Amino acid sequence: MADKNSILICDDEPDIVSLVKRFLQLDHFDTLTCSNGKEALKCLEESYEEIVLILLDIMMPGMSGFEVLRTIKSKETYKDIKVILFTVKSFKEDKEKGNELGADGYITKPFSGNELREYVKKLLNR
Ligand SMILES: [Mg+2]
Repeated sequence: MADKNSILICDDEPDIVSLVKRFLQLDHFDTLTCSNGKEALKCLEESYEEIVLILLDIMMPGMSGFEVLRTIKSKETYKDIKVILFTVKSFKEDKEKGNELGADGYITKPFSGNELREYVKKLLNR
């Protein structure tokens, strides 16, 4: 079996998605993208075997990142998939709630490309 190498990026801001995608590609990750929670769960169902990590926005219309996180962490099939939440600096409660739900890490917006790349590689031991 080929090594899992895909990262799913889920954010309702298209600029963030394309920016993050470009940074991750510099480190030779394959990327999948979506703009809401429902799509994220669908994408996971279809491609979970390739996905190592999800970068997940909290504030999205419809299903929030927290709801997506809760679903991911409740499924045995997804137990090896790590989840990093995009948080906003002023929202301290986001991390508390994320911790409760089993988030594996946090990236605070706004972030720099290098920060993001280092954080992801460290989390995945790459
Ligand atoms: Mg958002």
